[in-house]
Amino acid sequence: MKRYDVFIVGAGFAGSVMAERIASQLDKKVLLVEKRKHIAGNAYDEYEENGILVHRYGPHIFHTNSKDVLEYLTKFSEWRKYEHEVLAFYKNDYFPIPINRITLNKIYNLSLQTDTEVENFFSAVREKRYPILNSEDAIVNQVGTELFKIFFENYTFKQWNKYPKELSPSVCGRIPTRFNNDCRYFTDKYQFMPKDGYTKLFERMLDHKNIEVILNTDYKNIISEISFDKMIYTGPIDYFFDYIYGKLPYRSIRFEFENHDLEYYQKCAQINYVEESVKYTRVVEHKFLSGQKISNTIISREYPQFNGEPFYPILTEENRNIFKRYEQEAVKQKNVVFCGRLAEYRYYNMDQVVANTLKKFELMINGK
Ligand code: FAD
Ligand code: UDP
Repeated sequence: MKRYDVFIVGAGFAGSVMAERIASQLDKKVLLVEKRKHIAGNAYDEYEENGILVHRYGPHIFHTNSKDVLEYLTKFSEWRKYEHEVLAFYKNDYFPIPINRITLNKIYNLSLQTDTEVENFFSAVREKRYPILNSEDAIVNQVGTELFKIFFENYTFKQWNKYPKELSPSVCGRIPTRFNNDCRYFTDKYQFMPKDGYTKLFERMLDHKNIEVILNTDYKNIISEISFDKMIYTGPIDYFFDYIYGKLPYRSIRFEFENHDLEYYQKCAQINYVEESVKYTRVVEHKFLSGQKISNTIISREYPQFNGEPFYPILTEENRNIFKRYEQEAVKQKNVVFCGRLAEYRYYNMDQVVANTLKKFELMINGK
């Protein structure tokens, strides 16, 4: 029986950051097992035949306000400045998302000039909701029913197979409302892409004599063949407990990639299709993300579905209650740390996973 100090399940951000910290800071032997054929989890990117770097599991834009997270990841990558822009396609026209002054002027045929004018307009159209109990409340309370229906209702239903009123306020609440003309998707202080891609960043993170990586392997198939003191689990929490409280729903996506013999296929990196009649949610043009200058291009259309890789926790009251039952089991597992988007059933961004994992590492070494 082969012996390791720590057994880690999942080579995404949570598992790989833990592996790196444990190997480099504690000088302990780590076995990292990953069921997919590659490291980097959902941040995995790879070069297509025509040389374009594609994000296999949807666009991953690194954005954070945390200097600590940025500094930590900078040990493994250089960065390229990148600020993401998204347009919504509606009635054969394009509108900035998040909703801002330009969106408003275009939809309502106005010519509002200042932030105050926009703020006053929203005050007139918003429908006050209190308390904010769901995603519909969160948006209608800011921009009113009409904009909610145009930009959020259908897109959200396609994405989740749930209406915004069934989802936690935090889901649509990820998208702010702007009074100015700022067309950037994020306003975080630090917004970058790893210069050589995410997979390279992960390769450097895991390149340590104390880390052994096994791919293409479900952890349950090897756990009985090894011995270890501690386990870090970053897979779906319901699977760990053999679904004793039932399946915890996760949303998946089918990505349809297409090559085009064009310099650019669309106006910006991401177009959201907010109308019900279009079955996909968004189209991403990968060249914008990598900044490559190549004569042809690759896009991916996203079709949300239930089957497939579990990408997103579905934040409803019912699922939260199921998760809580699993969480109660998780705290009883003294030698297992549950970490990351799937194990904690949280809609984390990459920087939040890194911050949270670094915190869990500190708690672990302090015996908490
Ligand atoms: P994961 O990356 O899911 O890693 C978990 C790993 O565990 C997976 O590789 C999985 O295969 C493995 N695993 C699961 N079960 C087992 C098992 N039984 N045995 C062995 N291995 C197992 N975040 C941003 O900050 N910016 C973005 O722009 C952004 N865009 C996104 C777009 C999409 C379409 C998606 C789905 C996510 C996006 N995210 C974005 C979120 C980001 O992907 C996550 O925050 C991050 O990847 C989570 O890391 P993780 O380690 O918790 O999970
Ligand atoms: N959303 C929407 N319309 C949009 C953009 C987002 O309704 O044009 C809602 C939708 O429910 C989505 C959520 O806001 O799932 C969060 O959007 P985000 O872009 O953060 O989703 P992600 O990139 O995580 O898929």
